[in-house]
Amino acid sequence: MPELPEVETIKRGLEKCIVGRRIMKVNILCDKSFRGKPELIVGKTIVNVRRRGKALLIGLDDKLTIMVHLRMTGQMIHDGLERFAAGHPGREFTENMPGRFTRIYIDLDDGSHLYFNDLRKFGFWKVMDELDLATDEFLNKLGPEPWEMKANDFYVMLGRHKNAPVKAVILDQHNIAGVGNIYADEGCFYAGILPWRKCGDLGKEDADKLLEGLCRVMQASIDSGGSTMKDYVRADGTKGNYLEKFAQVFRREGCECPRCGGEILKTRTAGRGTHYCGGCQK
Ligand SMILES: [Zn+2]
Repeated sequence: MPELPEVETIKRGLEKCIVGRRIMKVNILCDKSFRGKPELIVGKTIVNVRRRGKALLIGLDDKLTIMVHLRMTGQMIHDGLERFAAGHPGREFTENMPGRFTRIYIDLDDGSHLYFNDLRKFGFWKVMDELDLATDEFLNKLGPEPWEMKANDFYVMLGRHKNAPVKAVILDQHNIAGVGNIYADEGCFYAGILPWRKCGDLGKEDADKLLEGLCRVMQASIDSGGSTMKDYVRADGTKGNYLEKFAQVFRREGCECPRCGGEILKTRTAGRGTHYCGGCQK
């Protein structure tokens, strides 16, 4: 599932290829994937690409915005002189478009196209008035992102969920935005905390270290072009290798812990596959 660092990667990639382009035509191949009136965005110019949590915001002139949710399997592919493809990794990155899973595509004034693919159809585009962004139900519920949070506020937030496992609390987008499964496990490893520890058991130092860990792993992922399960393609066409680069525990069960030499184990916490070191996480 595309997580915050992947959506940030898409944002940065699209910024370079679609800002300044005018939308000539909107092609909707699946009604469920498009919310709002397509005719509103025809003739409009793309003025910016932003991100809020895992939502991508394509800003248009006349104070309109297309909010894009990639959900489980969304992909954004821009076919211009070069191809930019990102999101849920798959063969579509290098195949001809529109493809089998293309749900929406738009024709741009330079002859290029922006495609939205979504195998499972949970993702969508929504045309919104800029003013409605402030009151959007989804955007409003999002907590601050890790790097927007002060250490003390993070500690206080954890303290509001004393009896809940730390992993469940940091995965909840209301509490802190953008922490996905990989980053929750890596953040807990960094801090030396078992993911199912109750938040109420954590001291200020644990909390500080956990926030620091979340910021570090997510920033490192953004710097490396997002996380990849198999073949994530970056803006320059190369494949990202986030997990190989710095995942210490995620998908490494059975391996040796790089910190203590103990065994990396896998269990379930907060309903999610959870990786941890049985030796040095307490
Ligand atoms: Zn260890």
